[in-house]
Amino acid sequence: MTARVIDGKAFAAGLRERVAAAVAKLKAEHDLQPGLAVVLVGEDPASEIYVRSKAKQTVEAGMNSFEHKLPATTTQEELLAVVDQLNNDPKVHGILVQLPLPKQISEEAVINAIDPAKDVDGFHVINAGRLATGQSAMVPCTPFGCLLLIKDQLGDLSGKTAVVIGRSNIVGKPMAQLLLAESCTVTVAHSRTKDLPAVVRQADIVVAAVGRPLMVKGDWIKPGAVVVDVGINRIPAPEKGEGATRVVGDVDYAEVAEVAGAVTPVPGGVGPMTIACLLRNATVAACRQAGLPDPEGL
Ligand code: NDP
Repeated sequence: MTARVIDGKAFAAGLRERVAAAVAKLKAEHDLQPGLAVVLVGEDPASEIYVRSKAKQTVEAGMNSFEHKLPATTTQEELLAVVDQLNNDPKVHGILVQLPLPKQISEEAVINAIDPAKDVDGFHVINAGRLATGQSAMVPCTPFGCLLLIKDQLGDLSGKTAVVIGRSNIVGKPMAQLLLAESCTVTVAHSRTKDLPAVVRQADIVVAAVGRPLMVKGDWIKPGAVVVDVGINRIPAPEKGEGATRVVGDVDYAEVAEVAGAVTPVPGGVGPMTIACLLRNATVAACRQAGLPDPEGL
């Protein structure tokens, strides 16, 4: 059996088109242009690439993009002052502070200083609580993107057995909440889980968010399961030359594709969904702040 390849790149392109259409409609009908502010502290090269890509896609969707680059020596107080200014700026509907932050700054303090209505990453404790209690929330982008891909494969998820590997606040926990809200029977596995392969073998839906290259093997997978690989791991690739590297997921794709019903590749699976969902969240946030209903199709 060979799994369907879940094309996250194509799905994300479709979502970005729907966001752009919703933004155009908001401008035409309500004179409202959603605005997304991204704050980058320090010079982490990976974060810089990510922030540039976010800004480009924000503008392509017809939204306002605001970038704030602060030096690595920025104090927590200075960063909180920037967050406060963005909280009070009516042109800014979404605020994203790029993580990780330099060690002199508490990520928790900064995240919880963002106005929950503008918290497009969905990391604020209020949004985590709203998601957990079934109230309208800003939902973290990566797990929301995973859910869209899973629903696209399976439609109604009610009664499905789901195993989420990883319990971080940014991926594993919100992923579990989203699947629970879809009436899945959810297990959250982590580094202390006993006999992980046997746990994963129960699952109709597997989401791997661990950060361990190629950990999930073919014989862990129930035949026909939908497997979503969140992992981004850089490993040596001597076949590409000395010192070369390549990116792989947490799932041993070659093995799993022989057993699963559908599987996301890395790259080209979950990755492109994250920014598309960020643009979606910023548009939804703009509507909610203006007292308008959430845009259709998002
Ligand atoms: P964290 O490091 O915060 O969490 C990893 C989780 O995996 C922890 O809950 C940990 O368990 C669990 N874990 C570690 N080792 C094992 C093991 N041997 N067996 C079972 N569980 C284990 O990572 P994140 O959630 O932030 O990210 C996970 C991966 O997803 C990373 O590769 C990251 O790069 C990627 N990522 C990709 C994104 C995208 O856009 N595609 C966005 C965000 C992340 P414990 O809690 O017990 O320590």
